Amino acid sequence: MTTLFISDLHLTEDDTKKLALLQHFIEVQACRADALYILGDFFEYWLGDDIDTELTAAVIEIFKPLKAFKTKIYIMRGNRDFLLGRSFAEQLGAEVISDPTIINLYGRATLLTHGDRLCVDDQSFQFFLKVVNYPLIQKIFKALPPAWRKKIALYLRMKSKNSTMKKSVAIMDVVPREVQRMFNLYRVSQMIHGHTHKPGIHLFKNKDFSLCQRITLSDWEGSGHVLVCRPNHTLKLLSFNVT
Ligand code: MN
Repeated sequence: MTTLFISDLHLTEDDTKKLALLQHFIEVQACRADALYILGDFFEYWLGDDIDTELTAAVIEIFKPLKAFKTKIYIMRGNRDFLLGRSFAEQLGAEVISDPTIINLYGRATLLTHGDRLCVDDQSFQFFLKVVNYPLIQKIFKALPPAWRKKIALYLRMKSKNSTMKKSVAIMDVVPREVQRMFNLYRVSQMIHGHTHKPGIHLFKNKDFSLCQRITLSDWEGSGHVLVCRPNHTLKLLSFNVT
């Protein structure tokens, strides 16, 4: 019995290595798990569920074998694939979960979030998140012809890459006071998120001296990464490769 968490695969059409890693992961690990949670930025960008690409077809094909197993699949949107919808998720056999979501992880209340909203010191990024989450803006974007949507997505991706290069690493990381605020607001002592690409298990003492645990997932650059949770509450960040 295991529950698996992955995030930040940033899948693109030309990334055959990551697709091979994903296929390996689905066939070897995910099929034997109770549940698989994908915590955002599964795709590098998302133009809308109505656009089928070679990539979407490949991913649907990779997930197909899971249908014969009991693994429950959940997917959360990230700041890159924020338009990912229920109809695509359904094709994966997955359920879309909102950000944040609190789950009962083998008896322990656990907050799941992509992690972008924890980076509150990065004000220009937070402004970007606000804008792209306006329902009207999303509606207009989805109504544009596919070619236009692709142009806009690639432009935003380039802009984000350029601004990321100029920003300090600290500003793009999670802000401890925001993390603490979330722990207290949702009354949980465990949080799992991605986004920062800085994997690790961080412990900290809350105001009431209770111990809180924040687990950051890794991106999939170079190799595959997964957080494996077991009913006895052991948590392991594992990496794997395919030859
Ligand atoms: Mn992200």
